[in-house]
Amino acid sequence: MRPFTYERAETAAGAARAAAAPGARFIAGGTNLIDLMKLEIERPAHLVDVSRLPLAQIAETAEGGLRIGAMATNAAVASDRRVRTRYPVLAQALLAGASAQLRNKARIGGNLVQRTRCGYFYDPAKPCNKREPGAGCSALEGLNRTHAILGASEACIAVHPSDMAVALSALGAGIETVTPAGEARTLGIDEVHRLPGETPHVETNLAAGELVSAVTLPPPPEGRQSYRKVRDRASYASALFSLAIAGPALALGAVALKPWRAVAAEAALARGASAAEAAEAELAGARGRGRNDFKIALARRVIAAALQEGRG
Ligand code: SF4
Repeated sequence: MRPFTYERAETAAGAARAAAAPGARFIAGGTNLIDLMKLEIERPAHLVDVSRLPLAQIAETAEGGLRIGAMATNAAVASDRRVRTRYPVLAQALLAGASAQLRNKARIGGNLVQRTRCGYFYDPAKPCNKREPGAGCSALEGLNRTHAILGASEACIAVHPSDMAVALSALGAGIETVTPAGEARTLGIDEVHRLPGETPHVETNLAAGELVSAVTLPPPPEGRQSYRKVRDRASYASALFSLAIAGPALALGAVALKPWRAVAAEAALARGASAAEAAEAELAGARGRGRNDFKIALARRVIAAALQEGRG
């Protein structure tokens, strides 16, 4: 047991300031952090509990969208009538994630910044650049069946595990934050996470201590919304591949270290390409690492089938 100190934050700005200190971490639902602490992969010196901050409301915006507080639970958002009727892709993605117990604890903010589920990241006996920069990547020649086919590097081929973030990418969501200086900032969902490059341990473009305070959804897009997740088990399993459709926008999950907005496929469809051609355009740069080669064919088929379905 490693000792750490704990405080319950009273304000978002105070939380961000406290969490900017070296060794400090936010905690809310704790569904990822506590697992990592038990394995001593995360060894925080100080925990800043943000779970009681008044950031759990889901409210209409003046633009006709919704603003979802970062402390709302996954379950609360998935069951919200406005989310279910106007943003079904988001409700479906949330319900496809984790288990009912976890969805009741996990918060929207933590969902966004959860860590990869790469097995080597969770095994302190194995080299992992994300856990220990410069150590090497065990997955390159190892058990990489679930790993990235897009946007990977020789330093890391992990994928981001969030289903919700894939739906948010297709919806063009905004992410509101509070910086340690107490300032509000808004990023597009696709600006939050980073591809691994040479620094896979740097996972987001958020500053140390920057607190995700809300997710903003623009007005719902015209057209169909759906979330399709392919996985090894029917529940409580990470995606092998997922696809979010929100009107003309597409995003892919479990293919990269961030939700993958499928701009090439969207552009192909806008030019009148077939579903199969759009899938091909998006996956032209895909690369397997052996055990995950099948994911390219899987992605191609799921994209083409889901798009074709929508065309009746
Ligand atoms: Fe670590 Fe990334 Fe390699 Fe997994 S894929 S072992 S997280 S560096």
